[in-house]
Amino acid sequence: MTELSQERRLVTSIPGPKSQELMARKVAAVPNGIGVTLPVFVTRAGGGVLEDVDGNSLIDFGSGIAVTSVGNSAEAVVRRATAQLADFTHTCFMVTPYEGYVEVAEQLNELTPGDHDKRTALFNSGAEAVENAVKIARSYTKRTAVVVFDHGYHGRTNLTMALTAKNMPYKEGFGPFAPEVYRVPLAYGYRWLTGAENCAEEAAAQAIDMITKQVGAENVAAIVIEPIAGEGGFIEPAKGFLPKIAEFAKANGIVFVADEIQTGFCRTGQWFACDDEGVVPDLITTAKGIAGGLPLAAVTGRAEIMDAAHAGGLGGTYGGNPVACAAALGAIETMKELDLNARARRIEEVMKGRLHAMQEKFDVIGEVRGRGGMIAVELVEPGTKTPNAAVTAALAKACHAEGLVVLTCGTYGNVLRFLPPLVIGEDLLNEGLDIIEEALTRV
Ligand SMILES: *Cc1c(COP(=O)(O)O)cnc(C)c1O
Repeated sequence: MTELSQERRLVTSIPGPKSQELMARKVAAVPNGIGVTLPVFVTRAGGGVLEDVDGNSLIDFGSGIAVTSVGNSAEAVVRRATAQLADFTHTCFMVTPYEGYVEVAEQLNELTPGDHDKRTALFNSGAEAVENAVKIARSYTKRTAVVVFDHGYHGRTNLTMALTAKNMPYKEGFGPFAPEVYRVPLAYGYRWLTGAENCAEEAAAQAIDMITKQVGAENVAAIVIEPIAGEGGFIEPAKGFLPKIAEFAKANGIVFVADEIQTGFCRTGQWFACDDEGVVPDLITTAKGIAGGLPLAAVTGRAEIMDAAHAGGLGGTYGGNPVACAAALGAIETMKELDLNARARRIEEVMKGRLHAMQEKFDVIGEVRGRGGMIAVELVEPGTKTPNAAVTAALAKACHAEGLVVLTCGTYGNVLRFLPPLVIGEDLLNEGLDIIEEALTRV
């Protein structure tokens, strides 16, 4: 097969005729509930591009939602997964184990924050990891309540829908939800009523007050938080907030769970976003970027907490599938070899430089934020902080038409987010930013 050329190339309108035909088949065969952001059907992908059935080559600022950080079909991922496919595809780790699973666990125990004794259990999806973190925390503490935050996103299963803040589209019509879930404020600096400078202190005080007065700290098994809220709008909690919540958890025997499913594995320019403020979670959930695109997820944490659940209490048929484990080892090898943390920090430098300049010119940009290869702009009505979902949707559409894959997010649907593969070339990164600037000029 020919090398995938790292260029944007549009040979039809987007989506092209072949993609449109496939989309008609999708509509007839796949339920409406499975939505599609950009109906372009992909045939090949790698580096910073996606190639479609019509021969177009699109710039990828999405990474399949922060998954292909090492790029699609990264060499080490393909090599290791292919070898594993040929050897054996499944035994079920709980029946007859294999080394790859243990090796991934060892890697995670080493790479995650804190040098305490750790254990790792593997699962298939992020939601499954979060569910299991809650199971483990309940088993360890013998308590039931779970505290989560405004703007939080933790998945689409019944328990994780309950943990997720936003109703539409994640929860609408899908209740009743799991009980014993309590939501408290997040330190969202840009929208904090008394100003960003007071936000960490006040939000933490409010959250802690709600936990102690409304739930009772002694009833709380776990506090589950994303160190940067992903789907909620790439909200970096005001500095000081995370350490305060972690401290409170520690003082009250509550398991502090960092959901790093979107932020983990070099995405923010550090192995884990918690590293930024030196927060050491008791448990950490990972998925997305872990295995170069193969389905794998994990819960990693303090040995005494992880070991609380009885033998046979955790697991699943496919959890830690050998091919997914081989891919994860290839992805981690790639992250280390290419120093993707440094690449992510460079992406932040380039993107923030350009986006801040755009903010000067376009008053729909309320805030530019994020870390590493996880950068967003929050869009507002000019001169106010009123969320501007219409302009956000129009911008995304304009970018798509020009062959740039971007995603939106945010509680108010007014955040344009960028999650390029960390291996993207700087020329493509700048070309993508040119497209965004051009789209801003037009909307
Ligand atoms: C994507 C995501 C999840 C859910 O992961 P799935 O693999 O889609 O189940 C949970 N938490 C966070 C922070 C996420 O970004």
